[in-house]
Order: sequence, then structure tokens, then C-alpha cells
Amino acid sequence: MTRPYNFSAGPAMLPEPVLQRAREEMLNWHDSGMCVAEMSHRGKEFMSIAEGAEADLRELLGISDEYRVLFLQGGASSQFAMVPMNLLRGRTSADYINTGSWSKKAIAEARRFCTPAIAASTEDDRFSRAPVQDELKLSPDAAYVHYTPNETIEGVEFPEIPDTGDVPLVADMSSTLLSRPLDVSRFGLIYAGAQKNIGPAGLTIVLVRADLIGETLPGTPAMFDYGIHAKNDSMYNTPPTYAWYLAGLVFAWLKELGGLAAMAEINRRKAAKLYAAIDDSSFYANPVEPRARSWMNVPFTLADPALDGDFLAGAKAAGLLTLKGHRSVGGMRASIYNAMPEAGVEALVEFMREFERTRG
Ligand code: PMP
Repeated sequence: MTRPYNFSAGPAMLPEPVLQRAREEMLNWHDSGMCVAEMSHRGKEFMSIAEGAEADLRELLGISDEYRVLFLQGGASSQFAMVPMNLLRGRTSADYINTGSWSKKAIAEARRFCTPAIAASTEDDRFSRAPVQDELKLSPDAAYVHYTPNETIEGVEFPEIPDTGDVPLVADMSSTLLSRPLDVSRFGLIYAGAQKNIGPAGLTIVLVRADLIGETLPGTPAMFDYGIHAKNDSMYNTPPTYAWYLAGLVFAWLKELGGLAAMAEINRRKAAKLYAAIDDSSFYANPVEPRARSWMNVPFTLADPALDGDFLAGAKAAGLLTLKGHRSVGGMRASIYNAMPEAGVEALVEFMREFERTRG
């Protein structure tokens, strides 16, 4: 049986070999007699799964010992609060770059804890581009600079990493982490909700430079303290064990595929094919400036929005699921994370061409 292609923005497709492996191991993981979901997080079986996943993630991203890798809960949305709670370290302001809906949420949450200064905003351009380095008004007194390298809703991705000098750079990489190689040493902290490129919802990955943790705002709950999670190897409380295990299977799948350089090559080709189909037509349009077009989330509109319903119904019948755009922007959005096969993008392009030919 072939499965349909699911273009959901997240929770999103998981690699089929990962799902197959999870199925094989469901009732009896490695002769333990247990499903991973039934294991004590402190037992030797789960400890080996946890350590293996961290080692593979470190290898994939080339993460040095200077960084702690945390496997947390609470989603990226909790990080909007945890970042200021942990990284202000006596300062009263932080710089935020505003490039879309998720940046705005991070900024709104930071206001509970400090005065976020807007280093740049593309809101006047309807979030259709990424700012260039010269536009950034960065303060040397900022506790950190926060940005969203890939805006999942608007489909805008920074083509380069901003230079923030000695001020730690913090990135919400929820919808781009693991899509290509990354120089982690450029960052003070990286966080990502798992439900796009990493695994199922319920797990949040944080990579944080060890020297930045340990000084929290007064009143910070233990569960919001990176230092406490780091000291306890992400086992201060019961971690999301099954999600951690599935993420580990995803990391192993990526390694088998040839790592992030190989993944990047596939992702680059997938995105190029889809954008070419949009640009080659006068029926489909994407509003994002070419240099900042996301490899992962491709929003597009039809020349006649009255055809949106027919497009979605036809796509579904052709085995192409969840193409409806975010409710805030409308139109369509194809999320083409790591687990989306190139054949899925090709099937979408073929459907789009046929729809335009017959209905456009
Ligand atoms: N940031 C980005 C860039 C996202 O795409 C999302 C989820 N779509 C979030 C934050 C929020 O993540 P969560 O639902 O895990 O809190």
C-alpha cells in the first residue's frame, strides 16, 4: 500500500522507514519485552535510547561539548518564555527581529519579562522578505538577539545567519532544524518543537551554550530552568520518552541517508522544483522575495481564490493531503520537510499543472 503525501505544516510526515521500524519494535523493543512507551525513563533500556539519540544529533549537527542538548516538553511556545527567563542574566533588554507570525509571538511573550527592542521588522512589507545585515539595529547591551530563521506561516527563510558580534544569537529553528548543515557555534541557543523535522509533537529540542545557563530570573519555576534540566540530563521529571525514541529513529534515518549535506541536496531540489512550477505559471503565485524563499514551507495562491476548494478536493483525491494555507494568510501551503519524498513534490507539481490546464 502506498501512503498519500501529507503536506501538513506540523505535526507533519515522518519518514516511512522510521514508522516501519517503530511498528516492528512496538510490542517488544530489542527483546526487552516492553514497548518504549512502557519503559522507565531511568531504566537501562531507555537510557541507551536517550544517549544514542543525543549522540546522533550531536554527530549530525557537529555540536561541540560547549553545548548542552536538552530534550524538553512545552513546545517552542514555552521557549518564548524560557529564553528571557534564562538568558536575560541581569539585563533588561533583548533585541528581536520581526519577520512573521512566530517572531511576533516570541516578542509578545518576551514583553512579560523585559523590553524587547525590534532590531528590524519586515511587517510593512507583509513579511515577504528577510532583512539584510545592514538593516539590523543591534544594541551591544542586549542580553541576546532573537530571530526566526524560517517563518513557517509566511514561508520566509533567512539566507544567511545574522552577525551579532559578541551578543548571543538565539534562533527558533522549529521549522528548519536538520534541513541542512548548520554551524551551531554561531549561536548561543537554538530551539525547535519536534513536530516538523524531528519527530512527533511533545518533544522540544534546545541546544544551549553551557556558559549562558545558570542565572535565571527570580521566581523562575524549576521546569523553566535550563540549568536544572542540564544538570539532570533532561530527566529532572519524566521526559517525553516515546517522542524522544522516535526522534532518535529520525536521527538514525538521517545518518543512513548520508547526513545533513545529503538531506540539504534533496531539500534544495524539492524546493527548486516547486518554486519553478509556481514561477512558470501565471495561475499560481508566491509573494516571497526569491533570496528568502523557504525550503520547508511554500505558500502559494491561485489566481482565482474561488477555486481554492476545488483545488484542495482534487489534490486530496490525488493523494496530496493538507495543502490548505494557514488560516491567517489563506491560499495554499505545501510544507516539504525532510520526510517529504522528492516524488511527493513531483506529484504535487504534476497535479498543479493539470489543475491549471483544466481549470485555470
Ligand atoms: N515557532 C515556529 C517557527 C513554529 O513553526 C511553531 C509551530 N508551528 C512554533 C514556534 C510553536 O510551536 P509549538 O506548537 O511547539 O509551541
